[in-house]
Order: sequence, then structure tokens, then C-alpha cells
Amino acid sequence: MDPIVPKNFIQQQIVEDLAAGKNDRKVHTRFPPEPNGYLHIGHAKSICLNFGTAKLFGGITNLRFDDTNPAKEETEYVDSIMEDVKWLGFDWDDRLYYASDYFDKLYDFAVELIKRGKAYVDFQSQEVISEQRGTPTRPGIESPTRNSSPETNLRIFEDMKAGKYNEGECVLRAKIDMSSPNMHMRDPLMYRILKQPHHRTGDKWCIYPMYDYAHGQSDYWEGITHSICTLEFEVHRPLYNWFVEELKDSDYRPRQIEFSRLNITSTVMSKRKLLQLVKEGYVKDWDDPRMPTICGLRRRGYTPESIRNFADMVGITKVDGVTDVALLEYCIREDLNRRAQRVMCVTDPLKIVLTNYPEGVAEEVDAVNNPEDESMGKRKVPFSKVIYIEREDFMEEPSSKFYRLAPGKEVRLRYAYYIRCNEVIKDPNGNITELHCTYDPETKGGNAPDGRKVKATLHWVAAESALSCEVRLYDRLFTDPDPDGHKDKDFLEFLNPESLKVLSNCYIEPFVNGTTPLTNYQFERLGYFSVDTDSTSEKLVFNRTVSLKDNSKKS
Ligand code: ATP
Ligand code: MG
Repeated sequence: MDPIVPKNFIQQQIVEDLAAGKNDRKVHTRFPPEPNGYLHIGHAKSICLNFGTAKLFGGITNLRFDDTNPAKEETEYVDSIMEDVKWLGFDWDDRLYYASDYFDKLYDFAVELIKRGKAYVDFQSQEVISEQRGTPTRPGIESPTRNSSPETNLRIFEDMKAGKYNEGECVLRAKIDMSSPNMHMRDPLMYRILKQPHHRTGDKWCIYPMYDYAHGQSDYWEGITHSICTLEFEVHRPLYNWFVEELKDSDYRPRQIEFSRLNITSTVMSKRKLLQLVKEGYVKDWDDPRMPTICGLRRRGYTPESIRNFADMVGITKVDGVTDVALLEYCIREDLNRRAQRVMCVTDPLKIVLTNYPEGVAEEVDAVNNPEDESMGKRKVPFSKVIYIEREDFMEEPSSKFYRLAPGKEVRLRYAYYIRCNEVIKDPNGNITELHCTYDPETKGGNAPDGRKVKATLHWVAAESALSCEVRLYDRLFTDPDPDGHKDKDFLEFLNPESLKVLSNCYIEPFVNGTTPLTNYQFERLGYFSVDTDSTSEKLVFNRTVSLKDNSKKS
């Protein structure tokens, strides 16, 4: 293997650890989601980082569910997380773990710490414990039971496990240092009582380990070498190391490394807030295409490649920042530009009758499937006497900058013919119902043999063979770039009332007949679209993934 030139400080650290011969020169990472919600684009960054980094160094990655809080966790989330990680293109092979797998071992280790005089049961209330923890500049106050004997602590801890105490009555704390400048070292909680069944262990336990107590030990038992987490855990690192030092039975040591979490403009990323959006009906579900969840992005038409590429582009840093959602959109555009099949779809149809076109002719024109990729070939698009164009491509009284169709003006129908508008037909209320145009049979394919130029090329659909469909347009879910960043205002106040627009009277060329959910298309001139998961052959539904160009605020 060629030597790896580190691209970020995490890779740099790994290169150094390998050079120093640490942990038998192994690289083993883990992705440790808590199954209390669906994964979002921030998790995708972490997944790409953990799986991608291990792969780069010839290592492996575990998937581990951090299921230490039975109150908020559900198997629905476990299933969705596995689906999303796989969809992103990563595989944990047979290395699927749960923190709950270690409940017995964690209990035994807690007993061991009690015996060593390094853990004790505290009967003070949560409030008192927090209060007595002090401040970074003022030492904490020791609990009255801090120095009780290991025998006493052991007996009480066993009673805690046996259910003899109520929730909140007592906790197990590590005995570390009540005057440490690091607040997390001031006798942190190890266990609390929760009389709740667990999604995997059922009623076996009524005491549950705290994240800080479970996480490092899980890493240790799985042989994790690099435990990558977000910046807020930096201050937990001494505690992580303290537990591991107490546990150690060899030279092997996992190393915790922190990086900045991903934030994206115009959305929220906290699982609690995403849950609120779902539960209170502001969006349809976790996979609503407006959600920053992985399943939402998938349903919207994002590809795994585009998300992986995005994760790569945002890079790994130690400073918190906010990434413009436009970068994510750039990544999907790039990907779909190369790969998406082009088709024509009219979303706001205006009927055109080609008065000089023969009746009953079934003609087809040749269209390019993807100008970026010749190997995708061509297709036949039916043409007919009656066609639809986009209503906004016609103006009865055109402004000076309007080059599209207008009375007396000529335009090109993409891949087909030049047409000229001769007559505007209206209903009694003055609304335009159809246009009468003539086509020039000499311009088949879209070019005039006499070299005559037109200033506009329109997309169109032949009425006879068109399929009707519904098209859903999405805009930002929030009107403010930082909906979470206002002290005096709730993020919900910034919900965009126009984040979803449903166009139910659209026509699309018959090429898409038989299409399946999540297939990506470019609708010529309109953007990238993908087949919705609710779409059927009776009712075709498309989601706009992203517009063709970055219209900045107007996506
Ligand atoms: P939340 O605080 O919204 O509930 P979390 O961080 O608690 O999210 P976990 O399920 O614990 O969610 O996260 C699993 C992994 O994903 C962790 O290693 C965490 O650091 C990482 N992660 C979570 N959110 C982000 C983010 N926005 N950017 C990068 N990594 C993230
Ligand atoms: Mg977490």
C-alpha cells in the first residue's frame, strides 16, 4: 500500500499512531447512533467519516447502537438506521453491536470499581448533586456517602439492581475528583434507576448505565482504535480515558478524536426538533422530502454518491461552522447532470393545436437521453397535432426581453419543429384556453435548412400519448437561514408556509411509463426530479430534487 498522505487531522493522528506501532497497527472505528430518531445529513457526515477513514487505512468499522436510555428508544429507529447506513453504501458485515450487549459486563465492572473504592452510591437528589458539583472555579462539595465502605456500596448497588429503590432515589457515581477543573471529572454518574422496559433487554434491568460510562468501555471491548465523535465530547475525553485506564488489561487503548458537527443553513438538525416536526404534523413523516433526514433526502431524489461527495467536500475541522445548503444542492446537481435520463414534462399545460399538421399521424422524433453521456443513447418521443407547452412560455403581449412564444413569433420545439403562433383562443372570461399555431415541416429535428434562427427552444409533450402526473415542488423548510439561532423566537416561527407546492395537472412523455420509485430524471428546463415512493402506474408522482441552477433563495 502506498503511504497515505493525510488529508485532515484525524488521518494525521492515525498515521502517527500507526507509525508508533500503537494497537498492533490496526484501525478500527465505529458509528454509534442512539436509536432515538432517524438519521440526518449530520449523521451521514459521521458515517462517511468513520467508514471512510477505516477503509482508507485498510481497517474496519462497527455499527453500534448506543441504547442506554430505554425511555426514548425504539426498534423502528434501529431498523431505519441500518437501512440508511446501507443505502449510503457502507457495510458493517457481522459487526453489529448494541451498548445493551454490555449491560452485564458494565455491571460487573461497576462492581469492580466499587470494590476498588472508586465508585459509590449517592442518595442525594439530582438537584443537590448538580448544585454540589460547584463551578469550574469553585470546587465541588463531597457527597455524605462519598467515603462509605465498598461493602456498604456493594450491598446498596445490588439492591438498586434488584429494584428495591425507586427512580431518582439513588445513583452510582465514580469517585474521581470533586475539585477537578473539568466538571465531568467531579464524580460523574455511572448508573441511574429507570423502571422502564428496554427494547432489547426487556425487564431484566432497572438500572441503566450513563452514556459516558458505557461508551468508552464498549469501544474497549470491541477493540475500537479510533473513537471519532463530535466536539462537545472533547471535555468528556479525560473521563473516557479514566474509565478505560481502570478497565485496561493490556496495552491496547482506544483514542477519542473530536471533530466539528455539521450544521446546514435553513434547517434544523437536532433529533428532538425533527421529532417535533413529525409528531406535530409540520411535515408528513421522517421521510418527508423537505426533511434533512437521510430517508427524506433519499425520497427527494438524492443519491448516496451525492451525499458521500458532499461529506467529502465539507471536510473535517475542529471549528463549528454552518454549511450552506447550496453546497448539498450543488453535489446532487453534479451527480444527476452526469447520470439522469432527460425527459420532457409540462407542469402548467397550455394546449397548442398545429393547424397545418395532418390528422391521425403517429410521428416520432429523436431525443438525446443525456448530452453528458453519449452511451445513454437516444429515444423516440411521439409528436402529434395537439401538444402542450408550459403556460409561462407564452405571452400574449410580450415584454421586450421575452423571446419565447407570442402571437406572430416563431420558436423551436425541442427535437421537433419550429412553430409559429397565429391565433389565441380564449374562453368567455378572457382566459387563454389554447393557441393555434403552424409548424414548418422543413425544420424537423429542430433546425431550419434556410438558416433561419429562433431565440427560444421550448419543451413540450404530445397530448395524445402524454401520461398525466403530479409534480411536487419543494422549497426550504424554513425561511430563516438559522431557524434555531434566535433567542426570543421558536424555530417553528420560521417554518416556510410555501415549502411544498403540488402541481396536479402535469403531462409527461410516455417514456417514463413503468418507472419505479426513486428513479432520477432531468425534466428538460425544469430541474431534477425523482419518482416518489407513493407513485403508482395509475398515479405517477414526481418530487423535484433540485432546480437546474442555483436560484439562491428560490430553489
Ligand atoms: P442529537 O443531539 O440531535 O440527538 P446525537 O449527536 O445525540 O444527535 P447520535 O445518535 O448520538 O446523535 O449520533 C451518532 C453519531 O453521529 C455520533 O458519533 C455523533 O457525534 C454523530 N453526529 C450526530 N450529529 C452530527 C452532526 N450534525 N454532524 C456530524 N456528526 C454528527
Ligand atoms: Mg448522542
